[in-house]
Amino acid sequence: MPALILDGKALAQQYEQELSARVAALKEKNGGQTPILATILVGDDPASATYVRMKGNACRRVGMDSLQVEMPAGTTTGELLARIAELNHNPNVHGILLQHPVPAQIDERACFDAIDLGKDVDGVTCLGFGRMSMGEPAYGCATPKGIMRLLQAHDIRLEGRHAVVVGRSPILGKPMAMMLLNANATVTICHSRTQNLPLLVQQADIIVAAVGRPEFIRAEWIKDGAVVVDAGYHPGGIGDIELAPLIERVAAYTPVPGGVGPMTINTLIYQSVEAGEKKLA
Ligand code: NAP
Repeated sequence: MPALILDGKALAQQYEQELSARVAALKEKNGGQTPILATILVGDDPASATYVRMKGNACRRVGMDSLQVEMPAGTTTGELLARIAELNHNPNVHGILLQHPVPAQIDERACFDAIDLGKDVDGVTCLGFGRMSMGEPAYGCATPKGIMRLLQAHDIRLEGRHAVVVGRSPILGKPMAMMLLNANATVTICHSRTQNLPLLVQQADIIVAAVGRPEFIRAEWIKDGAVVVDAGYHPGGIGDIELAPLIERVAAYTPVPGGVGPMTINTLIYQSVEAGEKKLA
């Protein structure tokens, strides 16, 4: 049987229609007021600027407003914290996205953690991570939550299966592992000090790659019938997994591009609409 394509682009488009209807209903009830996502871009990294622009565009597609904050590359931690505090106190802002990574002189963790929990629609605070891990209400970190929504929409069974996550970053691998654990998968987390990675990857019913190195995970390591999720994206449209030889023999896979990326943005918007509904509905 041909592998199921976990088409994040198509699913995000479908979900955008549902979100547009929810935003329209909110506007109707609130004299035209929409949920507002504040995006903060610090510095002039072109990739980060593109991601922020894409997020603003997605807001507009569902009829939401975004407030774009741009700060210079030399911004200090104190200046960024002050800006986040202002946005926390602004009743018209429902969600806050601080684009990662920020310039090296800034304490990124302190700035993430300064975001009000109710506005942490990108799911980056320690408190949000802890609550999510404990199964308490919190917005999930956008990329792993987007992956979970993609798997759920395609009825991929997780319970009792062995999920191997390669990568343990605070915004991807680590929350991914906790979400899979909460869905009753048996989870192995791999990282740069892991020994004998191919042997661990071979055991995966579900493999999630979040490494940031092109085609680092080789097709020959992955067993037949696995579910393949690739968060990586590199020039030339390749991911962290060598995908081409797998297409004929795995159960399902995320295309690169068009798999995880669109679901990340969609999840940010979805959680911003939820935050808006809590304040406006
Ligand atoms: P990151 O912060 O650089 O983390 C990379 C992880 O890979 C680290 O945990 C690192 O281990 C691990 N790693 C590095 N070399 C390894 C090796 N030789 N063997 C096993 N593990 C190794 O990256 P990230 O932010 O999590 O992003 C990962 C990938 O996802 C990137 O390609 C990024 O572009 C992509 N991404 C996509 C989206 C999206 O929306 N599609 C969003 C975010 C990120 P240590 O912890 O030991 O250093």
